[in-house]
Parts: sequence; structure tokens; C-alpha cells
Amino acid sequence: MYNIAIDGPAGAGKSTIAKIVAKELGFIYVDTGAMYRTMALACYRAGIKAEEEEKVVEKCNAVEVTLGYENGVQKVYLNGEDVSTEIRQEVIGNMTSAIAVYSPVRKILVAMQQDLAKKNDVVMDGRDIGTAVLPDADLKVYLTASSRTRADRRYKELTEKGVECNIDEIEADIKDRDYRDMNREVSPLVQAEDAVLVDSSDMDINQVVERIKELVKR
Ligand code: C5P
Repeated sequence: MYNIAIDGPAGAGKSTIAKIVAKELGFIYVDTGAMYRTMALACYRAGIKAEEEEKVVEKCNAVEVTLGYENGVQKVYLNGEDVSTEIRQEVIGNMTSAIAVYSPVRKILVAMQQDLAKKNDVVMDGRDIGTAVLPDADLKVYLTASSRTRADRRYKELTEKGVECNIDEIEADIKDRDYRDMNREVSPLVQAEDAVLVDSSDMDINQVVERIKELVKR
């Protein structure tokens, strides 16, 4: 199986890029962030706060997170319910990075991710794919961009959807999330030694996709 790992901070364009690369190569796309988000949603719905570690872990052990594909698009299910849209809310994104620090939560999801990569050619994106989930991936990419660029992209995305938002608040949230993801004890976000750094601040989607395809060819 051929495995591509794409890691990087929030809003670097990982999912957009990974989806296109997967489609063009005929691989499956695995969005690991969606899996963590689904766990956060389960806790959120149950009224559990991110700080309540024991309750969070208990909840995560009790629910079933599964992935499916509809016309090549990844869907994520919480106990069989399609929650792919609901997990995209900002409140869930912020809660996700707070529960992703708990190692029992990571353990459940990492096992699922490794199993998927063993059975399929995958493009998998996340924070710890090249370092912890697939240390032997055939290609590792660390995709990043400045926090302002990332906030700007998110702002445009939300504005297009008609959601009112403030770019400075978005940038502050992104910085908070980066800090938590990069400074946690378990599997922090860090560029793997053998990962290729791609800074997309001044690149468009197509350029990043081409760059990755070039790396695959090599
Ligand atoms: O990529 P996305 O923004 O959907 O991820 C949401 C959060 O899930 C991240 O901020 C991070 O805290 C967590 N995450 C993680 N490990 C992964 C993927 C996501 O800790 N492999």
C-alpha cells in the first residue's frame, strides 16, 4: 500500500489538498481531524466539558466513530448518524483541540487510522500522521502557511457561506489552536524529520497539488 501523510497547523489547506491528491491518484482520503471532531461533538452533546478528562475518555470509549465514502467524499458517523456537517462548527473545532490532548482518546483513533492505511492506498491528513500514526509513510508532507494567511482563508470561506465573522478573532483562535496542538505532551504537532516542508502562503491550490504529485513521482 502507498501511504501519504500530510500534517500541519489548522487552516493550512491540508484537507483541500489531500482530497484533490487522493482523487487524482485514486487513493482514499482520510481526514483524521474529522474523527477527533466527532469525539468532541459526542462530548459536547452530552454536556461534558473538555476539562473533565475522565468523562471525556469514558464518552469516547462508549461511542462508535466510523468513516464512509459517498461519491468519493468522506463522511463521518457518530453511532451511525452522519455528522459530517455538524462537526465543522467553530465551537466544535475549538473543543476538539482541547480533548485531543488526552492519550486514551488518541489511542482509539490512531488504531483505526493505522488499520485504514494498512488496507488502502491513502492520503491521510492530521497533526501526528508522519510522526506517530504512519511513521513509515512513503511520503510525508508538512504543509503550513502564515497564521494571517490561514485566518484570511477561513474568513473568506465563512463569509462565502454567509456566516458573519471577524478576521482578528479567527486569527486569535487559530493561534490558540496551534499553541495547544504544538505544545501538548502526547503527539504534538511537529514536522517529522523526513517530511518535506511546503509553505503554501504564496501558493495556490493547484501549485501545492502539483508539488505533491511531483514528490510522489520521485
Ligand atoms: O484538522 P482539523 O482542524 O479538523 O482538526 C481539529 C483538531 O483535531 C486539531 O486542532 C487537533 O487538535 C486535533 N487533531 C489531532 N490529531 C490529528 C488530527 C486532528 O490532534 N491527527
